Amino acid sequence: MPDVDVAIVGARCAGASLAMLLSRAGLNVVLIDRGKLPSDKPDSTHLVHPPAIRRLREWGLLAHLEESTRAPRIRQYGLRDIGFDLMADLPPDEDIGFALAPRRWSLDGILLQAALDAGTELIDETSVVDLVTTESNRVAGVRLKARGLPETMIRARLVVGADGTRSTVAHLVGARKYWEKPVRLRSVWTYWPDLGIRNVPTWRDQANYVFAWPTNEGETLLGTAWKAAEFPSRERQQDAYFEVLARLAPEIRNRIEGVAPQARWMSGSVPNFFRESQGPGWALVGDAGYSRDPATASGITDAIRAADLLAESIMAWLGGAEPEGSALRSYQAGRDRISRPFYEYTCDFASLTPYADDVNEFLRIAVEHPVHSRNLTGLFAQTTDPMEFFSLENVLDVLRGAPSVRHWRLRALASVAGRDGAGYRRRLGGKLLNSRLGELGQYLAMTPSP
Ligand SMILES: Cc1cc2nc3c(=O)[nH]c(=O)nc-3n(C[C@H](O)[C@H](O)[C@H](O)COP(=O)(O)OP(=O)(O)OC[C@H]3O[C@@H](n4cnc5c(N)ncnc54)[C@H](O)[C@@H]3O)c2cc1C
Repeated sequence: MPDVDVAIVGARCAGASLAMLLSRAGLNVVLIDRGKLPSDKPDSTHLVHPPAIRRLREWGLLAHLEESTRAPRIRQYGLRDIGFDLMADLPPDEDIGFALAPRRWSLDGILLQAALDAGTELIDETSVVDLVTTESNRVAGVRLKARGLPETMIRARLVVGADGTRSTVAHLVGARKYWEKPVRLRSVWTYWPDLGIRNVPTWRDQANYVFAWPTNEGETLLGTAWKAAEFPSRERQQDAYFEVLARLAPEIRNRIEGVAPQARWMSGSVPNFFRESQGPGWALVGDAGYSRDPATASGITDAIRAADLLAESIMAWLGGAEPEGSALRSYQAGRDRISRPFYEYTCDFASLTPYADDVNEFLRIAVEHPVHSRNLTGLFAQTTDPMEFFSLENVLDVLRGAPSVRHWRLRALASVAGRDGAGYRRRLGGKLLNSRLGELGQYLAMTPSP
């Protein structure tokens, strides 16, 4: 007999969200983490996009998060790149048109407390060191080790690894990685007294990326990123941070002249991969199953959305509506379908590779349009599907609204707007524009529009 329905390894945004949802649905859940919780997770810049904010509201946690952090609502994202300067409202997810950047002790702490309130049992300061398996190789529980105590065991109908990119559960089940790409950017950031930033300005050129947003009590998080191969040595990092700011965002550099940071300096990077995320008796959620460069600050949003999807699949299985295998497979397929276009967009964005002239002109035209500029910010905020934004129909719509189109490729593309034959137009559109959009374009060009 299992001791619990679900044992979840990792009690941060992915694990705590899942535990809360399953406990609220009446399942018996244990949450295990090797850290002492609640606590900060310093290697994160913790911007949370509207799709996750909407779920926090649905779960009844948003008001408390906002009251306890006094993190300002962020309604606009921007990017100053070679050739254009974007700052526009976020397209909403349902009626949620804002982001927040709460410190992790606040966000993870509130999710964890909600799980505990719903009946989840927490075992912290304890590591999962092995899995219990049956003769048929089904995962049937976890083996735990806390410092100074003998190893113990918990039997579970399902074991979920919500234990981050270096997931122990993934390692123990041998979960395969796919769509893997090398690390793109490495960042350095710290916190400053409120610099008056209430949106998300970002700056990018071929060498660096700069980002800023407000967090708890309006403090400003301000960071710079380098291509992984060009990341400065530890001794050089602070000087290099100020040099990059002076070059890409001099107005922000001036605002921190003579000001002391509010916290220590931090640095980090993230690998790019998807992992096989289910099998007999086990599943992965959050970074354990899908990890992407932090350039688009999406990990928490992805983790919360995936926890929601996985909770639905687990309930379908344990509630008897669907067999285990098909319920868990549809979780992984649903996650991948939603995440893959954003993944390609993120990896492409983080490569800092300049776009071709026609793509730059296309983006400049979109930036100047009131609706298309918002949709561009939604690519970052996960409220505009890249498949839709770069669909031929939308590309033509962007061009149609332009007062003038200078680049011959774009003029040629616009000239086929009236012709019949979706296949013909898609091929031409893919050739002229999508295939020149870096990795995202390659993905779009080989994938049918939705
Ligand atoms: C530099 C950087 C900047 C980032 N910026 C952003 C951002 O702005 N916005 C955003 O959305 N995301 C950002 N991210 C990504 C974000 O931090 C992650 O996507 C998010 O933390 C994933 O949450 P998770 O719950 O899946 O895993 P994690 O937060 O990694 O939590 C995993 C938990 O599992 C526990 N654990 C691990 N192994 C074991 C074990 N064997 N036994 C018991 N417990 C275990 C750990 O103690 C930990 O508490 C950033 C990441 C980095 C590195």
